[in-house]
Amino acid sequence: MQVLEALESNVRSYSRSFPAVFSRARGSIMLTSCGRNVIDFFSGAGALNYGHNNHQIKAAIAEYLASDAVVHGLDMATPAKLEFIESFNSIILRERGLQYRFQFTGPTGANAIEAALKLSRKVTGRQNIISFTQGYHGLSLGAVATSGNRFYRAASGVSLCGTTFMPYDGYFGPDVDTAEYLRDLLVDDSSGIDFPAAIIVETVQGEGGINVASRQWLQSIQAIAKRVGALFIVDDIQMGCGRTGEFFSFEFAELSPDIVVLSKSLSGFGLPLSMLLIKESVDAWQPGEHTGTFRGNNLALVSATAAVNIYWRSRIFSEEVQRLGGLMRQRLETIASQHSNSFAVRGRGLALGFDCQIAEIAQAAARKAFEKGLMVERCGPNDQVVKFLPALTIDVETLSDGLEIFEDSLAQTLKLGQRQRMSKAR
Ligand SMILES: *Cc1c(COP(=O)(O)O)cnc(C)c1O
Repeated sequence: MQVLEALESNVRSYSRSFPAVFSRARGSIMLTSCGRNVIDFFSGAGALNYGHNNHQIKAAIAEYLASDAVVHGLDMATPAKLEFIESFNSIILRERGLQYRFQFTGPTGANAIEAALKLSRKVTGRQNIISFTQGYHGLSLGAVATSGNRFYRAASGVSLCGTTFMPYDGYFGPDVDTAEYLRDLLVDDSSGIDFPAAIIVETVQGEGGINVASRQWLQSIQAIAKRVGALFIVDDIQMGCGRTGEFFSFEFAELSPDIVVLSKSLSGFGLPLSMLLIKESVDAWQPGEHTGTFRGNNLALVSATAAVNIYWRSRIFSEEVQRLGGLMRQRLETIASQHSNSFAVRGRGLALGFDCQIAEIAQAAARKAFEKGLMVERCGPNDQVVKFLPALTIDVETLSDGLEIFEDSLAQTLKLGQRQRMSKAR
């Protein structure tokens, strides 16, 4: 750890929140070099939906490597790429009545977002993008311009333009329909809001605090985009690939986005892989117009194909994720109700947030949880929400053990807080 302090840039972040050296990992358990087991409810920020070192997926990669097949080939044709496109097309898209073209972008989510924004501007000839309060779409310049967080925006060092922020579902409380507000502004020719090239949205805001948009709100936003001639983009980087129970997070709302952005758990193994799904009618790219050295890395395509084949050929996996999500939600709601009615539980599927309202409580509880063997991250504008993203493949016992650690950690945090307040009052 001293090596990191001395030689790694000050920008390092998760090695501070989780101060340990992690040497091995399997499924939902990470092992530290001191021999401590840590239950992982963070899953690489949602990049490990099928768990660490998923052995079935790993077998496909190992076989591929052993055969001297092409690992890096820019975006040249390989059997790995053909197989991925065919599997994803038949198992994921066709099953859901969806028709898309595939664009493999650079390996980060941010690069895929850049591509989606560029394409929208190219198709419409407009510049403005509508994004939502507390939205997060990555940190490259175009992507961070659509992200709400002031800390990240300020780090850009240049003026971030081309985005208008609108209130997300529920931003002004349950009584204000923010979709109606957006519609009114866009149809008013003197509202001062330029017609957008695209409206970009997360169906559940992951970094923003596990804020959940309703089916009706999402449908309204899609309809507004259509009405004003803007592309409708769903950023499914964190909430896609089964996180909310179905493969795409927008299935429950029966949406039909013009562009879907996928990354994080797409490769199924924690390998970097990002792509856009694009409706054919908006595929206006010239060949090579958005390029990059690492697009559609073959090893990642092999693991992605394996994940799709292993988990998504039937409804069983999806039903299991929803069942586990229900259990977890119930347990978190019970914990919330034991303490204070200001705590709130939000989310869908296995993406759940425990809103402590106060950042210090969330921070102390997460820190204590890590000491006791549970890894949880925080999110929300002030990091006041404890975020639960266990692997979708987690077993009930490990899930329950992790929740027990959280329950104890929160109880201790609150007891300590009470004692400190009492001693201050004296
Ligand atoms: C993580 C994330 C991104 C950015 O992906 P990177 O790979 O970190 O660039 C964009 N949008 C959402 C919703 C994300 O969760």
